[in-house]
Order: sequence, then structure tokens, then C-alpha cells
Amino acid sequence: MLVVLEKNASENDIQILVEQIESLGFKAQMIPGSFRTAIGVLGDKNYEIASALGRFPGVKEIIRVTKPYKLVSREFKNEDTIIKVGGHEIGKDFIVMAGPCSVESEEQIMTVAEGVKKAGAHILRGGAFKPRTTPYAFQGLGLEGLKLLKKAKIRFGLPIVTELLHVKNIDVVAEYTDIIQIGARNMQNFEMLQEVGKLKKPILLKRGLAARMDEFLLAAEYILNAGNPNVILCERGIRTFETATRNTLDLNIVALIKQVSHLPIITDPSHASGISSLVTPLSLASYAVGAHGLILEVHPEPQKALSDGQQSLDLKSFSDLMKKLSHYQNVL
Ligand code: PEP
Ligand code: MN
Repeated sequence: MLVVLEKNASENDIQILVEQIESLGFKAQMIPGSFRTAIGVLGDKNYEIASALGRFPGVKEIIRVTKPYKLVSREFKNEDTIIKVGGHEIGKDFIVMAGPCSVESEEQIMTVAEGVKKAGAHILRGGAFKPRTTPYAFQGLGLEGLKLLKKAKIRFGLPIVTELLHVKNIDVVAEYTDIIQIGARNMQNFEMLQEVGKLKKPILLKRGLAARMDEFLLAAEYILNAGNPNVILCERGIRTFETATRNTLDLNIVALIKQVSHLPIITDPSHASGISSLVTPLSLASYAVGAHGLILEVHPEPQKALSDGQQSLDLKSFSDLMKKLSHYQNVL
């Protein structure tokens, strides 16, 4: 961190600053410049405790030189993180997670599981506890939904991913699922991040609706810092000025996060676009940009879905997409 001084900073201002920097446990190094002077704040301690240095007299600005996240960064660990789930290697192979937005009934989840498995999906998705924008919308089957997902897993041999909506359900969700999803609205639920960090189970962390990359990576940092290295990031579209689609799929961040972090990153073209006809092109674009996989909403009868029917693929479109993807995988 650099503390840049005002041109007219006095000797006394500088001395007080140096004492404060040292009392925080850092080394203060003077960096004289031809125009103005800066003080380098050096040491392995977390720089956050030095962020109030900007309030001292004589300080023009504070410049952070290092990134606020550490454990998730390639500077800390350059080797890609590979997460094994049911014989699949997330972070190495291109993994497709597919299933309904919500588990609605035994018949529905079994039909989807059978269909997506046949088409080549690796993991079954399905919401049992649903975060809904309005309290009047279907809130999910809860525990009953988890039991149905488990039944489908046993019948079709597909590992499952489902959302943890509230910390109070952590034990039951962890017991039933192979991957715990943390939804966009909970990306900065720091208590939840710390609790799932105490588990070893893989976590699918979705990017918040308005989260910047550093906030997204810092949310992942919470989980790693609490002891769980198995985090899969998910770019699920962000809010922009554009209202023609539900959200905007930020493929920039997929390519950039691959450079900055060793964690796997997948995309969710269903929530990113909100329009089923856009899901195939956005899935192919995600593959092309280097995403490690996809999470897609698939419903046997999207027109009758209790949630997110407008963005869900039917089984035929999903199967067509999987064929296109395998064609891309052969040519790219
Ligand atoms: C979902 O996956 O069904 C979901 C609610 O996703 P998000 O948290 O990204 O909105
Ligand atoms: Mn959904």
C-alpha cells in the first residue's frame, strides 16, 4: 500500500504517520519523488487495518498495490483447482448441470433427470428452497424437494446441486446434495459463506446481481478462508441498463477470472438471459470463452413450469444443445 503525501505535508505530519504505520505492525518506507513523497506500507498483515491512514493530515491518497483477495488468486496458487463430483472433474472437463428451476413433483423431476441424463448432462440441478422476488410465488417443496432429488440421483446416477437459502437448513441440504448452491441474492450473506466454509462439500457460488469482480472473488475468499477450497464460481448475469433481457451475461468476467483466479467458473445462460431461445447461443459462447461448464434450466413442459418457465429449455432443445456443444468441442 502507498500513502501519497500532500506537497505541503510537514515533517510533523510525516512523523505521526510513520509512527501510526509502525504501531499497526507494518514497516514504513519513505519513497521520495521529484514532485511529491509517498510512504510505502510494507508487511504481511492485512492492509485493511491501514485503510484509515487516509484521514491523517498531510495525506493526499491511499493507493492499494495488491489485490484485496488472496487465497482465490493465481498469485497464491497458480495451478487450476479441480473439484471431483461423482467421477467428474470440474475445472478440467466441461461440465453441464441441468434440471428444473424448482422441483415440482416426483413425475416432473424423474422425467427431467431421465431426459437430461440421456442427452449427456453430468449433474442434475433443481431448487427445493427457492428465492423468489415476490412472496406470492411458488417457494419450493423444501425437504420434500430434497428427497425427490435424492430419489432421482439414485435412480439415474446423477449427482445433484441445489440451493441453500437459509443457514438454518445447512445440515439437511448438505446431507442430501453433492454441491451446495449459494444463490445470487446470498452472495454477500457472510454468515452463510463462513458456515459453508466449514464443510468440505463443493460450493457453487453465484455472482450477485450487482456484484463487481472483486466483490465476487472476496465472497469466494470467505469460503476458502473458512477452510473449504472447493468453490465453483458461476456467472449468472448482472443487472445493466439493458432491459430487453432479464440480465446481461458478462462473458468478460469469465475470461478475466480465468486469468486472475485458479477456481473453476461456469455460466448460467438461463438466468442471464431469461429467454429460452437465447440459452443455446449463450451456452456456445460460454464454451468458446473458456467457461468450465454450464448450469441450465430444463423442464419437460416449460409452459407449465411453476418458476422460470420462460427461460427453461424443453428436453428436445436441451438435447439439441448438447449435440451442438459436442460438435463445438470437436472443432474448437
Ligand atoms: C436458480 O438457480 O434457480 C436461481 C434462483 O439462481 P440465481 O440465484 O442466480 O438467481
Ligand atoms: Mn430459476
